[in-house]
Amino acid sequence: MHILVVTQDFPPDVGGTQTYAAEVARGLARHGHRISVVCPDRPDAPPHDNEFAAAGVHTIRVASNQDTFPIKAVPAVRRLMAEATVDVAFAVAWPSALALLMAGVRRHHIPIALAAHGRELLLEPVRVPGGQAVYNALRRRIVRSADLLLPVSRYTASLLVPFGVLAMQIQIVNNGTDPSVFFPVDTAECAALRAKLGLPDGPLILTVSRLVGRKGVNTVLEAFPGVLCTHPRASYVVAGDGPDRDALVALASRLGISERVHFLGRIPYAELRTLYSAADVFVLPAREARPDVEGFGIVFLEANACATPVIGADTGGIPDAIEHGHTGLLIPPDDAAALGKALSGLLADPERAAAMGAAGRKRVVDAFNWQCAADHIEARLSHL
Ligand code: GDP
Repeated sequence: MHILVVTQDFPPDVGGTQTYAAEVARGLARHGHRISVVCPDRPDAPPHDNEFAAAGVHTIRVASNQDTFPIKAVPAVRRLMAEATVDVAFAVAWPSALALLMAGVRRHHIPIALAAHGRELLLEPVRVPGGQAVYNALRRRIVRSADLLLPVSRYTASLLVPFGVLAMQIQIVNNGTDPSVFFPVDTAECAALRAKLGLPDGPLILTVSRLVGRKGVNTVLEAFPGVLCTHPRASYVVAGDGPDRDALVALASRLGISERVHFLGRIPYAELRTLYSAADVFVLPAREARPDVEGFGIVFLEANACATPVIGADTGGIPDAIEHGHTGLLIPPDDAAALGKALSGLLADPERAAAMGAAGRKRVVDAFNWQCAADHIEARLSHL
């Protein structure tokens, strides 16, 4: 098959949808299909594009930002359809499907598959009077036009119900991660990274996240003084950057815990697995602040793949990412007391923590990996 992937989210940009688009494209290419990806241009794209090309993924970059992409991508999609037969079109989120419809894929009888992540189905970005209703009607029309919908979690599938799509059009395909990229790294390498980053000895609690409000890093900071009472040598490390960073640094200072909290900023991809491996527990108590929701939470799988137990909030798609009591723990959102108890409990019981980490790694290797996700998607695409 020649599969045309259209996505406004793609590396070098960072985030869950970007990772999904890249990994599914690579996984489909491994099936021997021809993969063309129309995506936004970025100054630092060329090295990424060379890697994609080596994996059989051909990128077509379009000068655009996130908002203008669906319009700017139309000529590129038209050109591709004129040059070669496209068997199926795959939009990684609904705005990208707009580019497909405007380019006339329907006239060419090309079926459309559409992935759904969560937040994009709830967003209400239009501020002009009456504008949001028009936006909602357009979104509804585009979502309903897809032949196949691929939500990343049970939660995201539930968000599709109000759109009036048929259950038989919906196939949940959970996100994954790559267990050959994320794996347990030996203690010497972990110690070297700790030294390089200036992290002290003692138990390590880790968050990897874009620093935006819904991720709940403030709840971890509020829980941390309680954890220090039982584990005085513990540190909390936050990797990632975003608009909330200054407010979180200020909160740590107000709580009097700045010395034990380390904001690393965005860290290189190559260091992530060592950081996850060095951590005793990974935590991300994301809250459901509609329209801002956690559709799945790939970082839980990344931490699990490095044999680290995880704690998340029982919101959005997180219950698909964490098997409660087996690969980690689910706690109520915005509940610093419950989170503090869960963190202290896991730090106090290394055997239980290690068993959860091992179970998490096994679950990723067996099922929650990108190749499994791509295999499921491939099976459905070939029947469209
Ligand atoms: P989302 O961004 O809200 O979709 O959250 P997810 O947890 O689903 O995905 C986040 C992705 O961004 C994961 O693959 C993370 O590893 C990655 N990520 C977040 N922060 C950083 C960082 O500082 N460095 C790197 N290399 N990756 C990051």
